[in-house]
Amino acid sequence: MSTMSEPVAVDAALESVVLPDSAERVMLEILIHGPLSRVELARRLGLSRPSLTRLTKPLIASGRLLEGTPRARSMGRPAQPLDLDPAAENFAGVKITVDAVHSVITDMRGAVQSEREDALDTHDPVGVAQAVARGVGALAESGTSPVALGISLGGNSADGRSVRESHFFGWRDVPFAELVEAETGLPCSVANDVNALTQAQHWFGEGRGLNDFVVVTIGAGIGLGLVAAGELVVGAHGALGSIGHQLLLWSDATCWRGHRGCASALLATEAVERTAAQKTGRDVAFADILRGAERGDPALRGVVDVAGEALGLLLANVTNTLDPQKILLAGEGARLGIVGEHAMLTAFRNATVWESVRTPIEVQPFAFNEWARGAAAMAIRSRMLRGTSAAG
Ligand SMILES: [Zn+2]
Repeated sequence: MSTMSEPVAVDAALESVVLPDSAERVMLEILIHGPLSRVELARRLGLSRPSLTRLTKPLIASGRLLEGTPRARSMGRPAQPLDLDPAAENFAGVKITVDAVHSVITDMRGAVQSEREDALDTHDPVGVAQAVARGVGALAESGTSPVALGISLGGNSADGRSVRESHFFGWRDVPFAELVEAETGLPCSVANDVNALTQAQHWFGEGRGLNDFVVVTIGAGIGLGLVAAGELVVGAHGALGSIGHQLLLWSDATCWRGHRGCASALLATEAVERTAAQKTGRDVAFADILRGAERGDPALRGVVDVAGEALGLLLANVTNTLDPQKILLAGEGARLGIVGEHAMLTAFRNATVWESVRTPIEVQPFAFNEWARGAAAMAIRSRMLRGTSAAG
């Protein structure tokens, strides 16, 4: 075990590179992994103890960092871990879909305090901004006021301010963060919904502590979020992870763009429902298709196995391209990875190049508020990384 007096080897050149934003890095490390002892914190950030003390002193004095209850140790002074009060600030997260606004208020560690859903009957940017303001305003009225607001939607943004393109809303270059700021008076950021979900998983979920992992979402569309070298990566145009139309299998199934056998045509929840309706002659909801397959219905089992095979091929492409430590399946259709696991893993193993690479695939149980919580994570990120490059 390490002790207080253990020397921490620090490369002086490295430390000078790290220093400019290290107060933020200290806060961030404690936000994600805290409470942490000073020895552990210095080790994680590659800082010397005196440098760390210099950085933490003003943070403690201003109340941003708290000194925890001393832990008795066999030798030396008791260690006093550093932590922050997650309730010190609250954040709003809003996921916009074509017909609804889902809003949550979270604490600094992304724990949801309150939530609500409101119908959305317009796609006019100002009208949508006003709907966002109404939802967040109603939550703030009945609880705690947020200090910042994150918005996520099916679209892309390179700068966290404007929506470059959203097929679902028919938007091109809409300065949406600015519109919402005008309505709410809160600092606002806007992000692709899958990127936001990936950020939440990296800091507060199954991706915590991982440097390289991907989130693949299955729902109305298919998406991918990437953390590489410890950072969320969104690409040059905020469009990274647009895997929804990769061609996977020779098939008659077509997507809304007219592709045959693309990921959306084979895996999107509505596409699976369409295939099931063709095979059985009746309408079966996605959840019931999975339940029927689990119970042994041969037609529904066949539908799930084809979708599972397509999913395995898609995940093999992802693994061959990005080599993540872990693949996390998320979204309302993620349970396909459980019910269709055998077909998925067979296709995955056949199509991955390296036999020695056995990337774990985990299925995240779907929670209705996880998308809005992801949006809140982007607001937390923007606030924590003030002054550094927060792309969204
Ligand atoms: Zn397609």
